[in-house]
Amino acid sequence: AAVPTDSPTIFDKIINKEIPSKIVYEDDKVLAFRDIAPQAPTHILIIPKFKDGLTGLSKAEERHCEILGHLLYTAKLIAKQEGLDDGFRIVINDGPNGCQSVYHIHVHLLGGRQMNWPPG
Ligand code: 5GP
Repeated sequence: AAVPTDSPTIFDKIINKEIPSKIVYEDDKVLAFRDIAPQAPTHILIIPKFKDGLTGLSKAEERHCEILGHLLYTAKLIAKQEGLDDGFRIVINDGPNGCQSVYHIHVHLLGGRQMNWPPG
């Protein structure tokens, strides 16, 4: 399991375009790109461009409320853009028990197939 850290992650390289990614949405605050190991026909990660201590949701402070809302609203916009009209799933993994592997908060948008529940 990855060790929780506030250090830069691979997502900083994606934000800085030092490594390529399939970007599906970008504005001044957030970036969304396709997951390199998709778990569904649509699997997109939505991340803040400025981590500001948000390694994961468990580190959220009141100052992060605006960016957290922006991440979720962006997920909705992309779901529409991807044609996920029959539904989709949002996931935020946190910490070792949540199987978080990259310590830069990210929202998973999954869709294009039946998503089962409980996820296991
Ligand atoms: P976590 O397990 O932390 O919730 O999710 C991290 C996600 O980042 C994983 O689904 C993994 O496939 C994805 N990922 C890791 N490295 C890269 C990368 O270099 N490029 C892209 N596009 N996705 C990545």
